[in-house]
Amino acid sequence: MEERKILIIYTGGTIGMVIDPETNSLVPFDFESISKHVPELRRFDFQVKSLSFEPLIDSSDMHPDIWIKLVGIIEENYSLYDGFVILHGTDTMAYTASALSFMLQNLKKPVVLTGSQLPLGTIRTDGKENLITALEIAAAQKNRQALVPEVCIYFKDKLFRGNRTTKYNAEHFNAFRSDNYPPLAEAGIHLKYNYPYIRYTTLNGTFRVSKKMDTNVALLRIFPGINKDVVKAVLNAPNIKAVVLETYGSGNAPTTEWFLNEIKEAVERGLILLNVTQCLAGSVEMWRYETGVHMLELGVVSGYDMTTEAAVTKLMYLLANCSSVEEVKKELNRSLQGEIHI
Ligand code: ASP
Repeated sequence: MEERKILIIYTGGTIGMVIDPETNSLVPFDFESISKHVPELRRFDFQVKSLSFEPLIDSSDMHPDIWIKLVGIIEENYSLYDGFVILHGTDTMAYTASALSFMLQNLKKPVVLTGSQLPLGTIRTDGKENLITALEIAAAQKNRQALVPEVCIYFKDKLFRGNRTTKYNAEHFNAFRSDNYPPLAEAGIHLKYNYPYIRYTTLNGTFRVSKKMDTNVALLRIFPGINKDVVKAVLNAPNIKAVVLETYGSGNAPTTEWFLNEIKEAVERGLILLNVTQCLAGSVEMWRYETGVHMLELGVVSGYDMTTEAAVTKLMYLLANCSSVEEVKKELNRSLQGEIHI
């Protein structure tokens, strides 16, 4: 049997950082130094090759242009490797995973993002286990077919669907959660795959990439006492084509006249308003309360149980790839890559 090959794409993040003695803060370090801390990389029964970003970035500097670069790297290397592991800072990992899930279509190979809360060079690092298990998952096959042909995040014993994941903890090793979708795999003594929840539907189509993202998207989180001028400014921001509204509970928002008028005018102008909940779990159901019904009647689109990260990146992807507002709205109402349950 041909030897399996996995490509590590090192973008930066805490996993590879070291303390800069001058500033005492963490700064990125090259991959050679990473691999010194993980001699196990040479012990796998598959080949591991790596490619580093130049310059390495803290993921707070992540940008759709870099997603396009990542997608390009995966496209170029797609036929050469059996799977990909992306080393990435945790801060925006859920955004990158969501974006890549939309940009990489009919994926038949795993793209596993991972990182760590403590750098690999520190004694108590969580990075070593995260990297080793992410590689095992990226290489896992049955009858030469990948076990998890999805964009996913592996972190602290759990593999999550990327576009269902959110970073919720800046302190603990289990930094990510996916409240609306079960883990795709769990690592204990054995690596247990949750087969019924893994997406295999793309196996028929040909692998395709989209390298277009439209960043004319805004995010507005509602809170009691939100200022009219702020709402107005966001909904009227120049060139904005879509706004993700982070509402309360099952998709509820204030019923004040000025607020509903702003929403109404925005929809009439052709702005796409996508309603997601501030809650970590559960779904938008605008018909449930009068406060949601108003939004539904005004033409606000339901984001169902989608994460904010998936909502923002799905809009960027759709705005760049659809030819009309109607088409974007239609696509928002279906699951493209398992990001929503309708
Ligand atoms: N600031 C870092 C980053 O996102 C945090 C981390 O990697 O955990 O790049």
